[in-house]
Amino acid sequence: MKKFPLWAKIFIGFGIGLVAGIILKVAMGENAAAFSTTWIKPVGTIFINLIKMLIVPLIFSSLFVGAASIGDPKKLGRVGGKTIAFYLVTTLFAVIIGILMATILQPGALVSAEFTKLAAAKEVTKTSLATTLINLVPKNPVAALSSGNILQIIVFALFSGIAASLIGEKGQPVIKVMNSCAEIMYKITAFVMELAPFGVCALIINTICNQGLSILAGLAIVIAAVYLGSIIHAFFVYGTLVKTIGKFPILKFFKGILPAQIIAFSTTSSSGTLPATIECNENNLGVSKSISSFVLPLGATINMDGTSLYQGVCALFIAQIFGIDLTVGQIITIILTATLASIGTAGVPGAGLIMLSLVLSSVGLPMEGVAIIAGIDRILDMARTTLNITGDSAVNLIVAQTEGEMRV
Ligand code: ASP
Repeated sequence: MKKFPLWAKIFIGFGIGLVAGIILKVAMGENAAAFSTTWIKPVGTIFINLIKMLIVPLIFSSLFVGAASIGDPKKLGRVGGKTIAFYLVTTLFAVIIGILMATILQPGALVSAEFTKLAAAKEVTKTSLATTLINLVPKNPVAALSSGNILQIIVFALFSGIAASLIGEKGQPVIKVMNSCAEIMYKITAFVMELAPFGVCALIINTICNQGLSILAGLAIVIAAVYLGSIIHAFFVYGTLVKTIGKFPILKFFKGILPAQIIAFSTTSSSGTLPATIECNENNLGVSKSISSFVLPLGATINMDGTSLYQGVCALFIAQIFGIDLTVGQIITIILTATLASIGTAGVPGAGLIMLSLVLSSVGLPMEGVAIIAGIDRILDMARTTLNITGDSAVNLIVAQTEGEMRV
């Protein structure tokens, strides 16, 4: 199995699970569900628990480090503030487009009837808009960490990271410790992901035995929703910004960054694509080196519009298949979590899938959803990484234009 990349192994696990699920269902009929729940599902449950184990330490340490790098007073200043504002606002738009796509295309509609009975057993916390906003601030950060209140953990991590960088030398030891914690968590994530092919296989067998094959139709629509949403976001949101604030022809912009987009699409890593992104921005768009060398690396670390758009689509899809009606407060929570979590998402393949578990747990959606998405995650990662670096480039261009840093 060594020669296959991880995504291929997960895909194979998904495929084997699919075939095994169908065979079991055909061979055992009605009894397949009980059999798979007793003998197969536990493997999937262990995988899900491993992911859950990582959520709190991973999000706290990675957001702390992300915020500390933003909060560095030397780096910030006018250009920094502007860059971060553009990054966050466009990310917000991206999640909203994702949510709209899933609401319009209803990928879960074909599956929901069969899943609803499962949902009856799940307790989903309903919160109103006002409560969501009030609850953003943790009264007791330790309680937030121990109960896994995702939004509160995010808020506390952002405050702590920014404060740590503002106190200069005195904050450095803790920043170093958090950096090291984040690295440790990434390593454990890598171990856990090695088990993903087995976890995904088990959970897909269980899904087919319990709910049948209609899940596949839902997944096909999820892919369509993510790709369509990405195209809409790229052309409408970035296109408008590039044309109005960036004063740059839209088609020339897309043509200029095409080589980087192709690399992003095939490597699914915005960090890995960074050298190509910088090259395209400087040589093809004419953005000065001083702006590109700050805005683009920061973007590869904190700006993930494709990832947050995908999280919007997937969270809604999972709610739909489990027949859960989300309140306005919960939708706002998804928007806020996906936007803020994007700061802590690493620009490496598959990072968005781990962050999806965080978005799901912020509103109490079933974690099984992660395994359902995992089988097609590589296909989705190709679109979201491409959108991620497109967003970095669009913001780079508009910041450069407003700073008079275009070489034309
Ligand atoms: N692969 C993405 C990136 O590198 C992150 C993600 O998994 O969403 O930009």
